[in-house]
Amino acid sequence: MAIFVCENPECGNFRRDAKQAYCERCGHKFISKCRKCGAAITSSIQRQCWACGAPYKLSAPLPPELLQRHS
Ligand SMILES: [Zn+2]
Ligand SMILES: [Zn+2]
Repeated sequence: MAIFVCENPECGNFRRDAKQAYCERCGHKFISKCRKCGAAITSSIQRQCWACGAPYKLSAPLPPELLQRHS
C-alpha cells in the first residue's frame, strides 16, 4: 500500500490517501514514490528509497513563494 509523505525534510507529516496533494502543515507536496526511480514509498518512517537509495525528502525546504498555502 502506497503512503504519501511530505517532501519537506523538516516536516514529518504523512497520510495514507491522496485526498490532498499538499501538506496542511507546511504547504509542501506529498509524494508517494521515489523522484528518481519511481518506486512506491511504503513506510512513513523510511527516509530513503528501498530500490535505489535516493532520499525521499528534499535537501532543504522550499521557499514560501513556491508553496501552496491553505489559509
Ligand atoms: Zn509538511
Ligand atoms: Zn528510487
